[in-house]
Amino acid sequence: MLFQLGIGFLFAALIAFAAYRAHSLSRSGAWGALVEGSIIFGLGGWQWAVLLMAFFVSSSVLTRLFGKKKASLNEKFDKGGTRDIGQVLANGAIASIFAGLHFFFPLASWTWVMFVSSLAAVNADTWATELGVLNPSLPRLVTSWKTVERGTSGGVSLYGILAATGGAAFIALFGAWLGNSAVPSALFPAAVLLFAFFTGAGVLGSLFDSLLGATVQAIYRCPHCNKETEKHPLHTCGTETVQVRGWSWLNNDMVNLGCAMMGALIGMFL
Ligand SMILES: [Zn+2]
Repeated sequence: MLFQLGIGFLFAALIAFAAYRAHSLSRSGAWGALVEGSIIFGLGGWQWAVLLMAFFVSSSVLTRLFGKKKASLNEKFDKGGTRDIGQVLANGAIASIFAGLHFFFPLASWTWVMFVSSLAAVNADTWATELGVLNPSLPRLVTSWKTVERGTSGGVSLYGILAATGGAAFIALFGAWLGNSAVPSALFPAAVLLFAFFTGAGVLGSLFDSLLGATVQAIYRCPHCNKETEKHPLHTCGTETVQVRGWSWLNNDMVNLGCAMMGALIGMFL
């Protein structure tokens, strides 16, 4: 066990360092990834690590490819393309917990189900955020169906939903393929069915994210630019933003954490 943890730590350190050098992770984000990676590699195993990498590599590549398109909306989003520890924990903490629990319950199948579903949800949300802004028409608020500006929390669009489905399916593919290898004693349903479950859990988890974004997430307004934004306390222009709705403690990271948790719960329920 110490050997596997050691190997896991080494792999996680290599990847966190490479991601830091490539500006995919900030310094704090790299530390967070090191901890999560060590747990997932070291206590889960290589199958668990493959899923983490599928999430991490695909979301970093998308950010790189389409980041320019989204850069014009940077004033809206709380954070930019370099992920910090808040984002790393929001996306990976729940998955790390279930990978760690697999070590203590090696025969249980629910650890894998909740691990995969949680990653499917955060991957769906990440893909939707990166690709949804490319939608030709303006997004609509998931609650009232009113058109809103691009990048508004809780806004959904056709491209965004397609991207979310693709993101969830991408993780679900690995989750269905590696299930029996990750937990050999588990009696999983047929791979096709398992794939559909994981995809469904991911998409529903990311819709929950949009729902929180449209209702209770803290949203601010910049009095200088007269625009809604997630940024607080300062807008990109340097003006202090004022809260217009939501709960002040519920920032974008907390919403993503909720998405990861909801994905895991829906996965278990399905
Ligand atoms: Zn401003």
